[in-house]
Amino acid sequence: MQEFLRQKIKSRLPILIFSGLAFFVWSFYFTLPDGRLHLKFYNVGQGDSIFIETPAGYQVLIDGGPDNKVLGFLGRDLGLFDKSLDMIVLTHPQLDHFGGLIEVVKRYHIGAVIVNGDENNTVDFREWQAVLDEKGIRVINAKIGDIISLPDGVNLRVINSGRTSNDLNTGSIVLEVSYLSFDALLTGDADQKNQPYKTSKDSFEVFKVPHHGSKTAIKKDYISKLSPQISVISVGKNRYGHPSEEIISYLKNNRSKVYRTDQDGLIEIVSNGQSWYTRTQR
Ligand SMILES: [Zn+2]
Repeated sequence: MQEFLRQKIKSRLPILIFSGLAFFVWSFYFTLPDGRLHLKFYNVGQGDSIFIETPAGYQVLIDGGPDNKVLGFLGRDLGLFDKSLDMIVLTHPQLDHFGGLIEVVKRYHIGAVIVNGDENNTVDFREWQAVLDEKGIRVINAKIGDIISLPDGVNLRVINSGRTSNDLNTGSIVLEVSYLSFDALLTGDADQKNQPYKTSKDSFEVFKVPHHGSKTAIKKDYISKLSPQISVISVGKNRYGHPSEEIISYLKNNRSKVYRTDQDGLIEIVSNGQSWYTRTQR
């Protein structure tokens, strides 16, 4: 009987090794850059978190949502062995944008953190700053007009950064993400008080609707000029009434297809710099 068991174990071993190796190869294969730009709007509940992977594989995380849900998404996108991000952008210091970043910074090696220079006098925000200090991470204050040029041709241009009133939302970093003829406008929570944004382009393929689609998210006459082909609302269960039905119907009336993380789940946009497409989890 014992001999039989030993034989069985022996004959299983190669299969176990093989399937382990296959998993390794599989995991590696699916985390290799594919020469295209990916924008992923993570479904992190009530908050924002956007992951960008560029054609050559540079990885940027913009905001981290309110809690640790972002870790699951990052784990899937980076794979088992990649424990680094080239850059984190915190659009503004509110918990629904930086909450998840605390644990991301603890677990991953981060090239640099880009902030808007505003502060928030909360326990959570002080923890976020303490973790950045502890890990000795390079923190850069973004200024309007800054351009982060990646060697593969993707440019991130800072359109807005730092508040002009006592409203933290108005200080959100607004970014133009461009790759050849594809352009996306990522707005954090900078709503109609910041509009029209001083963008370098007139129109965008993809528009991240500011402030979770709140009723003050967009100026109506401005959005018709921007004419985005698709609009993405990052939103979860909340008590503020986000997103506003009026804002949604206004976007639709301007022939913009509206996606929402609470209904579509993860929303991904893929572009080769000329054409692009959208896919959703649901
Ligand atoms: Zn927010």
